[in-house]
Amino acid sequence: MKVVTTLAELIDVRAVLPSPFGLVPTMGFLHQGHLSLVRRARAECASVGVTIYVNPTQFGANDDSNNYPRDFDRDLSLLEAEGVDLVWAPNDEDMYPPDFQTWVEVEALTRALEGIHRPGHFRGVTTIVAKLFNATQPNKAYFGQKDAQQAVVIRRMVQDLNFPLKVVVCSTVRESDGLAMSSRNSHLDPQQREAATVLYRALTAATQAFDAGERNAEVLRNIMSEVLLTEPLARPQYVSVADPDTLAELTGTVECALLSMAVYVGKTRLIDNMVVENKGKGIRD
Ligand code: AMP
Repeated sequence: MKVVTTLAELIDVRAVLPSPFGLVPTMGFLHQGHLSLVRRARAECASVGVTIYVNPTQFGANDDSNNYPRDFDRDLSLLEAEGVDLVWAPNDEDMYPPDFQTWVEVEALTRALEGIHRPGHFRGVTTIVAKLFNATQPNKAYFGQKDAQQAVVIRRMVQDLNFPLKVVVCSTVRESDGLAMSSRNSHLDPQQREAATVLYRALTAATQAFDAGERNAEVLRNIMSEVLLTEPLARPQYVSVADPDTLAELTGTVECALLSMAVYVGKTRLIDNMVVENKGKGIRD
């Protein structure tokens, strides 16, 4: 496994890796969710690269990138064990050279959901992902359904800018009690960690209601909100029933929906989602 930091080194190492090359972009502090993407890439590609970069431009004023958890050595040993060929941990100088002023922005899709509460977040994400794609030239790029809006936004960017690659979205990996794995879970104290399962419980309650025939968007939203209310340590920021493709908030009868939420537990902001669909209709693949 080659580990590189500078763009110049990256280009040399990448040039001799066989195609198809699969890329897994991450911010590090790796867990089984990240590793599920790596395993999928390993199964589908002749060579696999992982980027580890805590991208400062996707963090907001109240969400300092310096507080993001890091453990580079542990990440490297996990990736080595997965048979990864290349790890690129870019430096800020290469990613944001002095006088940097070029951004990639996906418009309408980033104005919904997370975009409402994290202004500028997706501009940072799409800009860095475009730069990682340009530098590493992947044939396939792997993202998690855990960040559902991010996956939709990246797919749009790839289509709109004609990146010659396939976006693969992998299922959310959860802890045994349902909590979606996230590097940010490490900020939770034991009491908060227990409370954090309320997101999964809320999503599961709405999914079960949908599967039992409930099709009204408001009712599904209320089911989630009511479960969240039962947890005193949870402070919901939004609870959404949206179109999985356009991310527009839905009203009335729904046949297919992205159920999602952002919830503060202490100072930690957690997000999670599930997609429900009318199985008989086979709307989604
Ligand atoms: P991050 O390091 O949080 O930027 O995540 C890197 C990639 O891993 C993103 O595509 C995430 O959606 C994905 N990811 C994060 N957590 C999970 C999870 N629990 N299950 C599946 N994928 C995940």
